[in-house]
Amino acid sequence: MHRADRDPFDWIDAQHERLRAAGLVRTLRPRQAGASPTDLAGNDYLGLSRHPEVTGAAAEAARVWGAGATGSRLVSGSTGLHARLEEDLAEFCGFEAALVFSSGYAANLAAVTALSGPVGSGTLLVSDEGNHASLIDGCRLARAEKAVVPHADPEAVRKTLAAHGGRALAVTDSVFSVDGDAAPLPALADVCREAGAALLVDDAHGLGVLGEGGRGAVHAAGLAGAPDVVTTVTLSKSLGSQGGAVLGPARVIAHLVSTARTFIFDTGLAPAAAGAALAALGVLRREPERAHRVRAVAREIHRQVTEAGLGAVRPDAAVVSVQAPSPETAVQWAADCREAGLAVGCFRPPSVPDGISRLRLTARADLSDAEVALAAGTVVRTAPAV
Ligand code: PMP
Repeated sequence: MHRADRDPFDWIDAQHERLRAAGLVRTLRPRQAGASPTDLAGNDYLGLSRHPEVTGAAAEAARVWGAGATGSRLVSGSTGLHARLEEDLAEFCGFEAALVFSSGYAANLAAVTALSGPVGSGTLLVSDEGNHASLIDGCRLARAEKAVVPHADPEAVRKTLAAHGGRALAVTDSVFSVDGDAAPLPALADVCREAGAALLVDDAHGLGVLGEGGRGAVHAAGLAGAPDVVTTVTLSKSLGSQGGAVLGPARVIAHLVSTARTFIFDTGLAPAAAGAALAALGVLRREPERAHRVRAVAREIHRQVTEAGLGAVRPDAAVVSVQAPSPETAVQWAADCREAGLAVGCFRPPSVPDGISRLRLTARADLSDAEVALAAGTVVRTAPAV
């Protein structure tokens, strides 16, 4: 039977109309080819996505291994490049072992779900309310109890763990993507240890930016290699490539290989991405000052915008978040910046947890002082203090 009177997607039109009326329709804006010195919207913190060694390694990996991984990691998708990248990442960040995924998103889904067992154990996932969507989705997928705790509040984590009493995994970003503030990792590790809980840290915005030579926030907190700490990273920000990884004790990584669904049922990371990330790690080892530079650029952008009277949280890493009085103003500021040749990020409800709209500026190590001043000046002109 064919029911011509029923349109199975009519609800989409109604929903789209509601989004449109609220000004919340998202649109794609393809960028132009070529490096833009005035792009403060991306996450290419160290300027490595266009580094000739990195792009050359990507091309060479594709030539040698093919454009795609050809299969899942456990079938045909593991190459020598993947193995070397895992060894190098673990060694650089100070962990026993690492496992590479096709994205940071997949790595986070894997870490949260695979570490929330065993099923039926009543494991509690304790998640910071400011956590990235991929950690939130990991918690949603996990067959475990969940508690969302106030932002960057170790005391709230301590109380939640104490009230639960059983197995638990606390989950946090190291640097939060909206405001660019850092989690209190040492205090979180203390409260987890007190309760015998494990700690999972998403160091997507810490790798390449924080810690000695960019070894990340977990390394900086003295927690790298700890038996009860697991970290996830993305290869797509500081390393300028694509993909993600979980780092931790060897037995945790072996457990992920056998049980993590986003590892087992996903095609392996493309060889070009693995080769690029490996080359980027090599550049970072050789030029650790890049990590220092990106932090200095972030502080300088913050100095210039706050001196001009704009509200911005002091950046703990590469993200500078400038508060706007309303969603409409934020959207207008971002459009004005774009018009003036500066790409910036724009966060507004519902994608911000506290309802505060912001421009999101990301510092880059490869900007000269003059380029930083030009970019900050553009923001100040288009977003006058209110
Ligand atoms: N965690 C955080 C904190 C992120 O900001 C992102 C990227 N937006 C991810 C995880 C996901 O990483 P990927 O883009 O590699 O999937």
